[in-house]
Amino acid sequence: MKVLVAVKRVVDYNVKVRAKTDGSDVELNNVKMAINPFCEIAVEEAVRLKEAGTASEVVVVSVGDKSCQEQLRTALALGADRGIHVEADGRPEPLEIAKLLKGVVDTESPELVILGKQSIDGDNNQTGQMLAALAGMGQGTFASEVSVSDGTVQVIREIDGGLQTVSLSLPAVVTTDLRLNEPRYASLPNIMKAKKKPLDAMTPADLGVDIKSHVELLGVTPPPERSAGIKVESIEQLVDKLKNEAKVIS
Ligand code: AMP
Repeated sequence: MKVLVAVKRVVDYNVKVRAKTDGSDVELNNVKMAINPFCEIAVEEAVRLKEAGTASEVVVVSVGDKSCQEQLRTALALGADRGIHVEADGRPEPLEIAKLLKGVVDTESPELVILGKQSIDGDNNQTGQMLAALAGMGQGTFASEVSVSDGTVQVIREIDGGLQTVSLSLPAVVTTDLRLNEPRYASLPNIMKAKKKPLDAMTPADLGVDIKSHVELLGVTPPPERSAGIKVESIEQLVDKLKNEAKVIS
């Protein structure tokens, strides 16, 4: 079984994101970038399927400018076999990413496609669902457990207030939730080995996709600064302030 995993390059989750001074976008200059955490979980799941003998090959794909090859190499160091870089400048929106991934699905014919449930920069939570629709595949989103057997994938989904178990016929799309697994760290020997693994580049034209933008970013605004707190002298003063100033208790 071939597994295709989509990985996105995003600002590292440890970085405190700042808006550019003109408010036109998020500041990306000299900012540490990384694999989107949910995509890292997707890579880990695919590699575990390979280690269990269920998957035969793990292919990772990323859409973006040349710099996203760095995240593909990281995914290769985590255990993926082969990388595909789909070259696209700017910030393609989820529908365009989904169309490009559909092009890769058509050329690679994977039986399972694993994506993150959400990218932590755009918080879109759209690409996996759109890809499943475009490819005519079933989707198991927000997966906290995945098991493959006899041409189906069983997915336990994290939904509000509980878990839902679904069975999808393969090929299918799965998107990962936080509790699916705990990704490993790439070891130094594996980082070295990853440098020699194949990484192909493709253009949207190769995949027959014409990228169009339907959404314009008008601006980003940081949250308002928190004002300094105060120290109260007594419980009575605290209760008085909560009652009469903050008006959060009566
Ligand atoms: P989103 O819909 O943007 O929240 O992203 C959900 C998932 O789609 C991500 O976790 C990735 O698996 C995939 N994805 C989004 N953007 C890209 C990209 N530029 N390249 C590869 N995969 C992507």
